[in-house]
Amino acid sequence: MEQFCQDKTFKIAIVGGGPCGIYCALNILKKFSEINFENYHLVVFDKSQFLRTILPTGGTRCNITNSINDIKEFASNYPRGEKFLYSLFSRHFNSDSLEFFKSIGIETYTQDDGRIFPISNSAKDVKDKLLNAIKQFKNVKFIHKEIKSKDDLIDFDRIIISAGSRGSENLIKSFNQPYKPFKKALCALKIDNFNYPKGVSIKSLDGDFIFTDDGISGPLAFKISSINVDRHFPYDVSIRLFNVDDLYILVEKNPRKSIGNLVSKLIPKSLANCIVDDFDRKSAEVSKEKMKSYSILNLKIISNSNFGEIVNSGGVDLKSIDKNCKSKITDYLWFCGEILDIDGFCGGFNLQNCWSSAYVVANDVVYSIIN
Ligand SMILES: Cc1cc2nc3c(=O)[nH]c(=O)nc-3n(C[C@H](O)[C@H](O)[C@H](O)COP(=O)(O)OP(=O)(O)OC[C@H]3O[C@@H](n4cnc5c(N)ncnc54)[C@H](O)[C@@H]3O)c2cc1C
Repeated sequence: MEQFCQDKTFKIAIVGGGPCGIYCALNILKKFSEINFENYHLVVFDKSQFLRTILPTGGTRCNITNSINDIKEFASNYPRGEKFLYSLFSRHFNSDSLEFFKSIGIETYTQDDGRIFPISNSAKDVKDKLLNAIKQFKNVKFIHKEIKSKDDLIDFDRIIISAGSRGSENLIKSFNQPYKPFKKALCALKIDNFNYPKGVSIKSLDGDFIFTDDGISGPLAFKISSINVDRHFPYDVSIRLFNVDDLYILVEKNPRKSIGNLVSKLIPKSLANCIVDDFDRKSAEVSKEKMKSYSILNLKIISNSNFGEIVNSGGVDLKSIDKNCKSKITDYLWFCGEILDIDGFCGGFNLQNCWSSAYVVANDVVYSIIN
């Protein structure tokens, strides 16, 4: 290891005390403490309550990450940022984050669908444990303040921006950092001619969703909104409700039963009522082509809905930062978390982007000081 610059006290700013900013702060503090380096002050700024944004995650249970253990397969769950994440994940992946959480008293469990949650099933518990862990260190300060532009940070030697995707454009712009406009990427969708059973949940072959008052919500709706974020409304989507072969088998075994009743064995009856136009017809009399049409739900999406907004696409252009998320435009400036042009599907992927990018940034910031 090279000589530390012993005379100087480095001032490090983290703008944004959400999951990413706090994880980054903890990793910086931990690394400096491991090498007994004390010539620094770390200040975390937040315009609101620290870690407020973790509270609603996972329906307040906090879906901390996902159990997929192959980096490429994991990264395929990000419509934007997939390739950039290979490098971040190769340095800090889900197992590393889980080890970190364990070290601060957060034990986890994995659901059948691969989503990982704290055993407490409580996002508040995750928040409390992260904040308690950070309180063990003395070189850190929390300041409630909105950082409006780079001019508010002139006293700092190292700057980390983890301000998320809500209202951080002006801050990014003040550094002349190229970025893509933020757009809702995971949100509920409104449907043209809505005529479906409100509140009914569907387990389709493409994913789960629920009919809202005027459209669809839930993981599949979020996925559709994410994949189509750059398309103009209206656009058409087809959802595979069930495997039509299962209906053929039911019909073969029950030729006298009504087609509507047989379809109702594969999807909720209230939905079958909406899509099967000849509900009471004997199933043996219905053509295979017609049966196939019942297995697919065609929807015209007319707009996003305000309900269920979870993640935004857009953010700091990945071409304008290096593999350590360091700006190529401004010296000693890093970005991490949702402010980056990276967004994933539901399933713990967005928080994993926070953990991995925060870790890599923490490492690079420490390295830039001790080398
Ligand atoms: C309802 C909901 C549920 C979700 N559930 C999950 C889930 O279960 N699993 C998952 O992986 N992801 C989930 N997400 C997504 C996940 O919460 C985000 O990706 C994550 O919070 C991003 O973290 P961040 O720290 O980068 O940004 P943020 O969480 O947005 O935090 C940014 C922080 O910066 C502060 N800030 C912003 N601008 C300034 C400024 N100029 N000056 C000072 N402070 C500033 C804000 O007050 C905020 O505290 C969910 C999101 C929502 C909305």
